[in-house]
Formats: sequence, structure tokens, C-alpha cells
Amino acid sequence: MKDFTLEVHGDHSYDSTGAISEPIYLSATFRHPGFGQSTGYDYGRVANPTRAALEKSVALLEKGERCWAVSSGMAAINLAMILLEPGDHAILGEDLYGGTVRLTQEIYGHYGISFEYVNTADTKLVKAKMRPKTRLIFLETPSNPMMTVSDIAAIAKIAHDGGAILAVDNTFLSPHFQKPLVLGADMVIHSGTKYLCGHNDVIAGFLTVKDGASKEAERIEMLVKSEGPNLSSMDAWLMLRSLKTLGVRVERQAETALKIARWLQNQPQVTDVYYPGLTNHPGYSLQHRQAIGDGGMVSFKVKSAELAKNMLGKLKLIAFAESLGGVESLLTYPIAQTHAQMPKELITRTGLDDKLLRLSVGLEDAEDLESDLLQALKE
Ligand SMILES: *Cc1c(COP(=O)(O)O)cnc(C)c1O
Repeated sequence: MKDFTLEVHGDHSYDSTGAISEPIYLSATFRHPGFGQSTGYDYGRVANPTRAALEKSVALLEKGERCWAVSSGMAAINLAMILLEPGDHAILGEDLYGGTVRLTQEIYGHYGISFEYVNTADTKLVKAKMRPKTRLIFLETPSNPMMTVSDIAAIAKIAHDGGAILAVDNTFLSPHFQKPLVLGADMVIHSGTKYLCGHNDVIAGFLTVKDGASKEAERIEMLVKSEGPNLSSMDAWLMLRSLKTLGVRVERQAETALKIARWLQNQPQVTDVYYPGLTNHPGYSLQHRQAIGDGGMVSFKVKSAELAKNMLGKLKLIAFAESLGGVESLLTYPIAQTHAQMPKELITRTGLDDKLLRLSVGLEDAEDLESDLLQALKE
């Protein structure tokens, strides 16, 4: 079935009541019919029917064999990093969600794992950085917040040739626009909090693997069972509800984002606009080979840091807030918010500075968003 259909129906099967909406199973535990027997559900940390329905729906959309729904995007990223062992080397994109860099530097970096941050838009450089101990390549495309585009298929091949796996954080595009597993990645990760939820009201994360019988999948299953990062059934139900409108939301958001990106290019106070749907974006042709949409995230630079900071207090419709992907438009100041703890060296390498703003385009009318930006940009 096609994505719009999968998003609405997912893995839903009708129970004896004929309920159209998936039931919420709040039960923490499940009765066994007899000794050595199970309904398939024993204890809620290990599996819950509502969460299982969500996991199957996301796996269907990503074209993966197994998905785990967890309590946040960071919990999902943690499941990928915890597969590494002392002595291992991992290549990470240099422009990443700040929390991912913090997790690798402040936590896993202390366990004898070495992380190298590389511009993954440069495929040759990724190949040159491979070492005999490289076990993981982890990237975002488009990246956060500089919107650089990396070649998933080419980097998957480099990873596999060197005995490593490729994990892609697909948060910015959602599976509606890009399917990293189909392009060759082994794992796809989402902050479900963003487009998959879409309403700025649930914190959730997903990790989906291509091969449900791989040793990584087996290990993740054991970790989820042992560490308990699972998503609650109430939140799982809200996410199932959100998925039904994923396609209509992200297609409309991308359409408005392109309008706004073009409009920003014509504003005298704006010096640079980063959106992979603009024909002058360096990743434009690659983006259109590997994804069917450009997403709703637009980053841009204004003339001065003062102007950037002033804008944040002047916004009326758009909210100055962290996060993205919801129906409400948000403007983020990465240097002081999402990327405040990024190492200085990475900040200068990627060009993320105090003039950069990141807009998450919601479902409002494009003209109303432009009017709000126009009045906020006034010097
Ligand atoms: C928000 C975000 C995360 C972290 O997800 P949480 O749900 O906030 O834990 C990871 N990656 C990207 C690209 C994000 O935008």
C-alpha cells in the first residue's frame, strides 16, 4: 500500500467491537491462560498492544522489519550509541542535533569510544575517515540546522564495505518524504516529538531497523526489555492518531516552506537562506534523488546578531521556542537554544553563528507567516 493509506490505516485490524480507532490498552500486565502459555503479551515494559500497533505502523512506513517506540528521540539515539563498545570508532555528521553531540561527548566518550564529527555531505571525506575499528556512521540529512544534504546510498556502501552500519536521523523529513532504509541505511531514527507527532504535545522517539534478525536488532530488543525506555500506551495512542495526518501535514508544510524560503531570499535584512528546495542549494539535486519532498524547515541568516535577537521578541504569530514539526510555526535561535552546548570548534566549522535563525513552518497561511516575519525583521 502507498504511504497515505499506510499512514491512515497502519497495522490496524478490527477487534470484535469493530472499533475504527485503535483501543488504548492501559494494562501494565497480562493474564496468562495457563502455565507456559501467553497471549503474546506478558508485561507492559516488554510489549503492549497499543505500542505494538504503533511500532508496526512506523515499521511499515519506513519499510523496516522492526521498530521500537521509546520515550524520546534521545532515548532512540541512545539505543544506537549503546551498541558501541570500548575501543570502537564512530563517524558522526558534524552538523547534528545538539543533544546527540552532548550524548556522545559527555556520556559515551567517557567509555573509551571515539567519535569523529565529519562533514558527511562530502562523501569522499567520509570514506577517508573510515578506520578498521569504525562500527557506526550516524548522520542527519538535511542536517540540523545548516540543512546540508548527505548521500545516504553512497555512505551506506562505505559503511558496509568497512564493516560498519549506517544510522540516519530522519527527523527533519519524516518517512513520508525520505526512506533511509530503502536507500541502504541499517537504522532510521526519529524524534517522534517533531513531524510524526506534529502537534507539539507528545515527546516520543523511534528506532527502526531494516533487518529484524540482525545482531543489532537482537541487542536492542534486549536493551529495551532491560532498561525500559518504552513509550507509554497513552502516548502511543496519540502518536497513532498523529500518523493518520502525517502526509497532508508535511506536504502542506513543505509547500509553505518553499514559499517562505523564496520570500526570505528577497528580504534586504536576510543574507542567506538554507532550504534544500531552493535551486541554488548545493544539495538540491541529491535531495531530489533521495527524497520526494524538502520538508518544512528553513534556516536563514540576518545581517546582525542584534537583529536576530530583536526579532525573537517581536514575533506575534510565530512562537520563539525550541522544537519543530508541529502545526504551529516556531522560530528557534540555535546558538542559544538547540545548539548552545555544541563544541565551539564544530560551531565554527559548520557556519552556525549568532545571525542564524531556524524556522519550523507550521500549517498557518503563508501570507500571515510572512507578515509576521516582515514586521519582526524591521530594523
Ligand atoms: C529534537 C531532535 C532530537 C531529540 O529528540 P527528543 O524527542 O527531543 O528527545 C533528535 N534529533 C533531531 C534531528 C531533533 O530535531
